[in-house]
Amino acid sequence: MIPPAEHFGQEGPQLSHYLRRATKILIFTGAGISTASGIPDFRGPDGVWKRRQPVYYDDFMRLEAARVEHWDYKLEGWAGFRDAQPNATHAAIVKLEHAGKLLAVVTQNIDGLHSRAGTSPGKLVELHGTNSSIECQTCGRRSDPQPHFETFRKTRQPPKCECGGFLKPATISFGQNLRMADIQHAEDFASKADLVVALGSTLSVYPAANIPLIAAAKGAPYVIINRGQTEHDGLPEVTLRLEGDVGDIFPSAVAESL
Ligand SMILES: [Zn+2]
Repeated sequence: MIPPAEHFGQEGPQLSHYLRRATKILIFTGAGISTASGIPDFRGPDGVWKRRQPVYYDDFMRLEAARVEHWDYKLEGWAGFRDAQPNATHAAIVKLEHAGKLLAVVTQNIDGLHSRAGTSPGKLVELHGTNSSIECQTCGRRSDPQPHFETFRKTRQPPKCECGGFLKPATISFGQNLRMADIQHAEDFASKADLVVALGSTLSVYPAANIPLIAAAKGAPYVIINRGQTEHDGLPEVTLRLEGDVGDIFPSAVAESL
């Protein structure tokens, strides 16, 4: 069935063609896919960094006041992250996995929504970490955020691990390097993909934005869907560039391709 053109956009059938043909799809995602779930784009015009000073990782490790500030900032956003639900784009990616066509999802998002939607842990690389768990900065132990936020709300004391290490939401902070193992996983996936689709990312944050280019360099068609410009627009590696909201374009193309 060919869907009506106005529903799909004129490029839509072309996207479903690429999706239908591929068997090892790499999906690369950014903030634009989660705005429909109520997650604010923190780098956007109303983003949090217009109001708050980011806490750098070295300061977090060095200064109690910086740890209080970071926990206070994370507490402010916690209820929103905890209660956010995946949307049609996250679900469409899971459908590709169930159809045996998904190689991996590499995301810049820290909202945990791919995992909540049902993307398998072994196929998910969260390059910038996740708000869905708390991590000890000394022993690496992970735990559920809720009790730590409740304690912090009451005491204003940044929580510590049983080992004495500082606890921090498991996101990559300003001034903190990405995890080498995550970059390695993402690069391995990229080198094996037979199609790469970037969804809702301006492709302006590196090294994350290199991942789709690695796949394209190996010969995979490279499709970009985003509302607004991306830094990869116009590159010769880009096979198809669709302008608009990911939620309006991608889920229907996936449904068409399966
Ligand atoms: Zn610890």
